[in-house]
Amino acid sequence: MPEECSCCGQKTEPEPGFYYKAMYCTYIIWVTIFVMNFLVLGLWLDLSPFSFISLYTIQLIILLPFIFRYARVIHIYISVKYDKNAIYKHPNKVMRSSTHKPID
Ligand SMILES: [Zn+2]
Repeated sequence: MPEECSCCGQKTEPEPGFYYKAMYCTYIIWVTIFVMNFLVLGLWLDLSPFSFISLYTIQLIILLPFIFRYARVIHIYISVKYDKNAIYKHPNKVMRSSTHKPID
């Protein structure tokens, strides 16, 4: 992961241990997937507990990298305040064009 955004200069890890809090987002995503699986596989399709747990485990193994990434994304969206003029405060100003003008 880069240390800062190339467009606006926002640090991707504002403080040490910043992403430990993303574990709560991961937990919420996992519980949501579990509840959806329970409703569909357990109640609607009436699978046995062994089949249910096996399918759930396979899903989690496949989705694990995506869940970790999106938990971090959700966490930084919640934690970092949006600054609409941040791109113009960044020294590199990579995205400067006619479509990107400062907002007053
Ligand atoms: Zn940015």
